[in-house]
Amino acid sequence: MTKKLDFSLLKTLTQLPGLSGREENVRNFLKEELSSYADEVRTDVLGNLILTKKGTSGKTLLLCAHMDEVGLMVRFIDERGFLRFVIVGGIDPRTLLAQRVRVQTKTGPLLGIIGTKPAHITTEAERSQAVPLKDLFIDLGLPVEQVKELVQVGDPIVLDRSYEEFGDGLISSKAIDNRGGAFILAEVFKQLKNPYYTVQAVFSVQEEVGVRGATTAAFGLDADISLCLDTTGAADIPGVAPQDYIVRVNGGVGISVLDSMTITLKPLFDALKDICNQHHIPYQVRIAQRGGNDAGAVHLSKTGIPTCALSLPTRNIHSNVEICSKKDIQAMIDLTLLCVQEGLHF
Ligand SMILES: [Zn+2]
Repeated sequence: MTKKLDFSLLKTLTQLPGLSGREENVRNFLKEELSSYADEVRTDVLGNLILTKKGTSGKTLLLCAHMDEVGLMVRFIDERGFLRFVIVGGIDPRTLLAQRVRVQTKTGPLLGIIGTKPAHITTEAERSQAVPLKDLFIDLGLPVEQVKELVQVGDPIVLDRSYEEFGDGLISSKAIDNRGGAFILAEVFKQLKNPYYTVQAVFSVQEEVGVRGATTAAFGLDADISLCLDTTGAADIPGVAPQDYIVRVNGGVGISVLDSMTITLKPLFDALKDICNQHHIPYQVRIAQRGGNDAGAVHLSKTGIPTCALSLPTRNIHSNVEICSKKDIQAMIDLTLLCVQEGLHF
């Protein structure tokens, strides 16, 4: 099995701002962190970071993990300096009330607080339901003149929440979707030693708004096979029946067989399970009738690429208190590394 993991890199990755289409901070960090391990490094037109490591078999494996996170964007600055915003990616608006955010301005990040009318001046009917998005605003605590000088319509906004390790080997933070997958890909890439495949490690952009980066990245690369590393919603929580969990936290790496965008080819699906069984890697089968990921784009590229999404089970996904497990991260690294080093033979 692999070396003991140092999670400080994951902590750093989660705290970087990287709204969809504005991933430059994450990209620059990963480029700095991983370039010395790569035979070739480049960034494509949309901003995908692509690192290559040469292998021995003459075949190419595309490993994909998206860099972007869900968040908000400034749409309007009102006459008193409060911001209105749009949502970028699939955030549940119910999770936004009373949260802190960081508005990414041209002179650096500004702390903002998402507010709404206080309980004292709302009706009972208003209080009994979720606050509609249109009634939420961001308070920067600054006079309007200063806000108008610093903030521009179109500025990205990311959720703000620290990285915490808690409970029995769990982690909670903002942006585990998908800095968790990016961390796994970074760790795998660092540990490559004469891999079977030539590895094209793609840190993709704009997954959360429709797998856009992976679409162009896959087209630009001639991959024989692909694994996409992402989080998936774990609904193993109160009020949900076990058949609706999708995956469980601490249940091992999720091997996708079906989601709304992809059905994994049977030989690849079976080969991945065989590797887990042979090497005692904990795994679970992921079926998600709603939701997709970069695999949806990659497997349809050109004449088709056998592709599977490996998934990190994540509770509270698309909120700023996402939760994942260190054991599941380890299992996902172990499986991915074995696939790349020894090859998937089917
Ligand atoms: Zn994701």
